[in-house]
Amino acid sequence: MRLFEAIVDANHRAVAGDASAGLHPADFADALPIIALTCIDPRLNAFFPNVLGIPADQFIWLRNAGNIVTGTMTSTMRSLALGCAVKEGREIAIIGHTDCHVSQTPTMLLLDKLKRLGVDRSQLPENISEFFGTFASERQNVIKACGFVRQSPLIGPKIPVHGLVVDITNGQLDWIVNGYETWQTLPKPGAIDFAQSSSPAIGALGSLAAFDLGEMKFPNQRIGDAAGQRDLGDIKPMVSGGTVAAPRLDPMPGQPQLGAENSARRPPPPTEWVKPGSARTGENPNKKPLPPPIRSKIVDRDRG
Ligand SMILES: [Zn+2]
Repeated sequence: MRLFEAIVDANHRAVAGDASAGLHPADFADALPIIALTCIDPRLNAFFPNVLGIPADQFIWLRNAGNIVTGTMTSTMRSLALGCAVKEGREIAIIGHTDCHVSQTPTMLLLDKLKRLGVDRSQLPENISEFFGTFASERQNVIKACGFVRQSPLIGPKIPVHGLVVDITNGQLDWIVNGYETWQTLPKPGAIDFAQSSSPAIGALGSLAAFDLGEMKFPNQRIGDAAGQRDLGDIKPMVSGGTVAAPRLDPMPGQPQLGAENSARRPPPPTEWVKPGSARTGENPNKKPLPPPIRSKIVDRDRG
């Protein structure tokens, strides 16, 4: 079982009420840290990285409104690329969420809200929905984002790019794109036609299709000097500086199954989790439906 397969498995078991559900990050050292792009919705603040069951220092967190990626060479793509190259992120996950207000705000309402904030419509691009990347379906938005990231010449082909949606009510993760299954079949970066990108900026950057990340050098000049600070602002400092071994994308047949060992050796769960609206739990109705969000345990295995 590979990292995100183990994450989703542990997450589903935790959601189902299995207090022993957990993840052994040490078993997946080759796949950590991960880089996640999520929405800016504050309701997600307490969810991550808890619902993934990985330590905070192995979680590189990028956020934008709607977890939107609008092209293969955008500022978000640059952050993802630098997250991999500079911070040694090994896997990328685009994680949307249910009840996303970005997808629920019609263009006319958005324009009205902007107007009330003093934004002049004439200063905005003609196609508002394309400019802001607003979307109707969270799942399709995640698929689209995964496609751009997977096809970006800035992201090496060995980095798995996953797509998931987290349920804002209970923290359950659902697969949208399994990056382990798709990464081998995608076209090489040079084969991407940037003219087909929905981002108007991409056509002008078409010559960058030949850009070779292997030629990217950071010797005497800080990245921010060349790239412009405004483009790097969304890289969160919540990252690990530790070195990580080369990515390992093959299945790990010898991977111990979660929960395989004696649960008596596990520490008690850090939080009590109660699934909201769950009839079979029979809990006190006064109990808080969602205490700290579900937390797939981080388990320190006793290897002795
Ligand atoms: Zn959202």
